[in-house]
Amino acid sequence: MNIHEYQAKEILRSYGVSVPNGRVAFTVDEAVEAAKELGAPVCVVKAQIHAGGRGKAGGVKVAKSLEEVRTYASELLGKVLVTHQTGPEGKEVKRLLIEEGCDIQKEYYIGLVVDRATSRVVLMGSEEGGTEIEEVAAKTPEKIFKEYIDPAVGLQAFQARRLAFNINIPKHLVNQAVKFMMGLYQVFVDKDCSIAEINPLVVTGDGKVMALDAKLNFDSNALYRHPDILEYRDLDEEDPKEVEASKYDLNYIALDGNIGCMVNGAGLAMATMDIIKYYGGEPANFLDVGGGASEEKVREAFKIILSDPNVKGIFVNIFGGIMKCDVIASGIVAATKQVGLTLPLVVRLEGTNVELGKKILQESGLNIIAAESMADGAQKIVELVR
Ligand code: ADP
Ligand code: MG
Repeated sequence: MNIHEYQAKEILRSYGVSVPNGRVAFTVDEAVEAAKELGAPVCVVKAQIHAGGRGKAGGVKVAKSLEEVRTYASELLGKVLVTHQTGPEGKEVKRLLIEEGCDIQKEYYIGLVVDRATSRVVLMGSEEGGTEIEEVAAKTPEKIFKEYIDPAVGLQAFQARRLAFNINIPKHLVNQAVKFMMGLYQVFVDKDCSIAEINPLVVTGDGKVMALDAKLNFDSNALYRHPDILEYRDLDEEDPKEVEASKYDLNYIALDGNIGCMVNGAGLAMATMDIIKYYGGEPANFLDVGGGASEEKVREAFKIILSDPNVKGIFVNIFGGIMKCDVIASGIVAATKQVGLTLPLVVRLEGTNVELGKKILQESGLNIIAAESMADGAQKIVELVR
């Protein structure tokens, strides 16, 4: 799960990790009020969307007066911001962070991620802050320094110090940088983050080390033990179909093709998308209804697939192991009765109660195309949506 910059900064602040003073604003008046309260000679008006690259896209504005705060806030609120991370459709700005302007001496990069190869959290740093770290990694990988963290003892001060020296933090500020990194690591571990990225970390004219930007991602599988983080969820930033799916505990990811997929098991769902592509089609979604899905769950899943206007046909591919084919069949029939079905529907059923499942579908009067195998089903649905 992703959260906004201002929310990430709230968390960092509560761990004593240094960030500029700032306030969130949902309206232009709130933005001006926030700037007044901050009382800083220079304020920065920052668009809050779940995507980076805002600076280059005009989503970060420096205001030298309250009038300028008003101008920039009204410009940004409601604007669809297109950055290299939003995709061409962009994201609408609904919140702003009004923050104290910072006298930047130099920008650095600090990040924590889980490294799958070593199964450890790795602390990364670079002197090339403010720019795309992916670009630094591609062009000048020697400018990225890493410290692998032993989970038994956590980040050690000597590691943070070594990194600070490697990225050339001014000597008299190394202790502050170390404190910063140790605090950031504590947040990462306590809150079950999957990414904590500070780009840029800055050294200021008055000798401070602080986070000017903050991106925190959380491991969704750990959210059940972080109700405080769940509070930060912003449904406006998520695909409505995915929000609906999460209510029913369905593993659904919206994609941009036109063949809706209903599958049980994540592996089979991946294989189904692959085989659709193999035969020249494009899946509209990933969907794993899970092992022991109820009829209600199947019904809701089917409705979510049908609510996608791009969907031109549906492929149901079920291998009934724990999942029973008749439950799937009843769910499909119930959903189509509720919302109607005019699209071609190809069904491949195999496994527990398959005969009963097929019978339910046949007797439903729905126009269903039966498939003998995965390959047969994929070919048929690709043909039908053409
Ligand atoms: P993004 O990564 O989405 O472009 P950032 O928060 O990193 O957004 O902001 C982009 C740039 O704007 C930063 O690299 C920094 O130079 C400048 N900036 C951001 N916040 C402030 C601030 N509080 N004071 C001064 N400059 C800032
Ligand atoms: Mg940034």
